[in-house]
Amino acid sequence: MVGIGLSALVAGCGAVRPEEVALCQPLVETPLQSAAPTAPAHPSTILYLHRGGITLTGGSDDAPHGVSSLVAGRGLDHATLPAAPLDDRRWADVVACVQGQFARFDVVVVDRRPPTGDYLMAVFGGTGAELGYASDRRGAAPMDTAGCQTVPRAVVLVFSGQLGSDAQPHCETAAQEIAHTFSVDHELLAADPSSYLPFAGEKIFQDIDAPCGEESERACHCGRRSQNSVRLLFDRLGPSRAVDRDLTPPTVAAETRRGPRDGLAISVHADDAGGVATMTLTYRDAVAVFSSTCGDGLADCTRDGSTATFLVPGAHGAATFRATAVDRTGNVAATADYELIVDDADPDPTPIALGVATRGSFGRIVADAAITTTAGEIVGATLYWTDLRGVTLRRPLCRASGDRWSRAVEVAPEAGPRRYIIAAADSSGHLAVSPLQTFLYKP
Ligand SMILES: [Zn+2]
Repeated sequence: MVGIGLSALVAGCGAVRPEEVALCQPLVETPLQSAAPTAPAHPSTILYLHRGGITLTGGSDDAPHGVSSLVAGRGLDHATLPAAPLDDRRWADVVACVQGQFARFDVVVVDRRPPTGDYLMAVFGGTGAELGYASDRRGAAPMDTAGCQTVPRAVVLVFSGQLGSDAQPHCETAAQEIAHTFSVDHELLAADPSSYLPFAGEKIFQDIDAPCGEESERACHCGRRSQNSVRLLFDRLGPSRAVDRDLTPPTVAAETRRGPRDGLAISVHADDAGGVATMTLTYRDAVAVFSSTCGDGLADCTRDGSTATFLVPGAHGAATFRATAVDRTGNVAATADYELIVDDADPDPTPIALGVATRGSFGRIVADAAITTTAGEIVGATLYWTDLRGVTLRRPLCRASGDRWSRAVEVAPEAGPRRYIIAAADSSGHLAVSPLQTFLYKP
């Protein structure tokens, strides 16, 4: 089902009340250079993966001495976790996968206990029953939900006895639990390991601003407006200093053909020497807007090796799309924007009229829209903003007055084109989408 635009539209804004206007902070772009900040003076963070069984003591986290706040938090003096039921080959796969999850960052992942110094320890083993957790618990980690400080010398738990014999769930659970100690919250982005949403595929940390929550949206911890797990981990860990690190992004291309039910089939091909983790399609036409990573269930998609085929039923009119791929060590590549005309038929008439104007001044672009409907009232409008990196961010517009809605964007300093569209919904369930707006930013 492609008509996801409508529910996406009203999430986070709903019917905007006048008193909310003052809270409409500008969307802030991330400068490109922050992707590779200068290396910090501190040593690399050590992530020690422990498979061999252990008895932990309750107390303030101290991985080198086997002291865990999780044990203390369960009211226990000690807890003994049996070794993970993973043979050497599977264990090597788990270690390699965790290395890939954190390859972008300044960490060293080891599975032999460091003889000295500080480190984080991820203990693989047990079912959680050893600490009295419910039987559906896959892991646990200490997290500073009040101040979002990093938990030093943290001990995190991966309940390998619950996770079967494939390496992937052990790796993805470890990635989430390790990230929690750096204040990474659960987010509503299925392809990211910090998410609980079901995902058919390999998860990897995604450089995308996402809402927080488990099954539905809630406020992010510490007053954050949204979460980008990759930016947060760069901030806490710094960029990788490994000279032998894989820096080659995947190749990615797309092709289209007619799909079933009058629809469009878009095949995305991505290739990478170390393997492709995720493939994402961002699509817009006269009636649908979505961004879906194959496996998240937002769009109909099947994956066959290095090809992901997305089906867009009822695709119609002028369509624009772009595909993005992330490899197993976090390198990202995107296609250019593809534009095509799907057929000659007029889209379903909508009673919504949507006029868009762009205002720019130093460091700031304002998207202004005049929106009216003849069927009820306008209940929400959403800005889909695409930065220079090709990442699309979604934010509600705020009602300025009467029919006027707007959203300011604080633009990163790099010159170049910014693209956006505005979508609006009315109380009768109609949806309208603006033409693609392009603004050439020159600081
Ligand atoms: Zn968690």
